[in-house]
Amino acid sequence: MDRTAGLDRAHAHALGWLDSLAARPVPPAMTAEEMLDRLDRHLQDGPTDPVAVVDELAEACEPGLTAMPGGRFFGFVIGGTHPAALAVDWLVSAWDQNSGLRLLTPAHSAVEDVTEAWVVDLLGLPAGSAVGFVTGGTMANFTCLAAGRDEVLRRAGWDVAERGLVGSPGVRVLVGAERHDTIDLSLRYLGLGAPEPVAVDDQGRIEPAALAAALDAGDGRPTVVCLQAGNVHSGAFDPFDATIAAAHDAGAWVHVDGAFGLFAGASPRRRHLMAGADRADSWATDAHKTLNVPYDCGLAIVRDRAALRAAMGMHGDYLIHDVAGEPFDKVPEISRRGRAFPVWAVLRALGRDGVADLVDGFCDHAAAFAEGITAIEGAQVLNDVDFTQVCASFGDDDRTRAVVEAMLSEGTAWTTGSRWHGQAVLRVSVSNWSTTVDDVATSLAALHRAAGH
Ligand SMILES: *Cc1c(COP(=O)(O)O)cnc(C)c1O
Repeated sequence: MDRTAGLDRAHAHALGWLDSLAARPVPPAMTAEEMLDRLDRHLQDGPTDPVAVVDELAEACEPGLTAMPGGRFFGFVIGGTHPAALAVDWLVSAWDQNSGLRLLTPAHSAVEDVTEAWVVDLLGLPAGSAVGFVTGGTMANFTCLAAGRDEVLRRAGWDVAERGLVGSPGVRVLVGAERHDTIDLSLRYLGLGAPEPVAVDDQGRIEPAALAAALDAGDGRPTVVCLQAGNVHSGAFDPFDATIAAAHDAGAWVHVDGAFGLFAGASPRRRHLMAGADRADSWATDAHKTLNVPYDCGLAIVRDRAALRAAMGMHGDYLIHDVAGEPFDKVPEISRRGRAFPVWAVLRALGRDGVADLVDGFCDHAAAFAEGITAIEGAQVLNDVDFTQVCASFGDDDRTRAVVEAMLSEGTAWTTGSRWHGQAVLRVSVSNWSTTVDDVATSLAALHRAAGH
């Protein structure tokens, strides 16, 4: 079977796709139903030439692709793909290393160790913290919260690995009222049920006094507190200085969901947003958002390596302190791809200054969006634009929704419609290295047209 021809075709299709990003409309040309009509067929009995397979799929899929890696995709919080990370991601597939064991994949294990130390240092987190390379923010939250759940129960004399949750003292989980939905999902995976929401301010930041009151009102159960670095609507960061010490005084494990915001710690200009966050016990972030590596890559960072290993390792024992541990001790799965390679690549390509510039660039573009939106008649920016997110209203909900619709059908840029604080909003998230000042200007012009000006 000819490997070269297939890879050459994939290379050509990849370049064709990337070259099309600058000019193509951002939304896909076809819906999922239309794509299914194109692709739905019975699995044939015989083989198909791999080169033909690559061509057929690339050609069939083209109209169903969204220009997410392009500079004018501002939907959700998506990120882009840095060229070094993309190129190395191809190598990851070609190398095909099952990265769970040191003996099996020494190269990946070493790169993972190096990258772990780089990431922890870059983000201003405690030296020696463990980093599990998981699929994304959801699994990073899950992994960190598993370590937290087990640890607070261990302190209460209950070994989850041995005894499970049934009959345990239970765990109370306090979260800001505007935590990301994946926190609730992670807690469901963990058998902890719904969390107790704590009041937040107008930017979605947890209120320290409300948290203190909730901690005081504790019923003696072991407690986990979930804070947030980067609210998806406002980009706001919880006040870590004013909350973590109180949570620790109450014996709680403190987790920070920083799926896109944790990288503020890598920028001297934004680091203040993270002040005090280094005192938490665990932090979740995505490499596939702000750091711009391809999907799927999240980072579960835990200060107490033994706690992470006890939760995720094969033996569930807090007292194993031999050597370095296996890479699979830090993540939910055993077999996985070499996720640390693209993270290493983007960090090596950018360096400390480059990561800071990346983050600052996103924030500067967001600020430019906010300024441009304010100039549209009847439009209002609803959040303090301190980071990468802009949330705007265009008057009443009907008009805001109409602007969101008009943006989507016009296709110059992708922005997201959402609801925040009871009203319809248009949300802009900047998280792609390739976004330029021109992209922002072009997108703002589209927004002016969509708003009827
Ligand atoms: C995106 C996001 C998540 C979930 O991350 P995935 O990578 O999509 O699993 C969790 N929390 C916040 C704040 C996010 O922005």
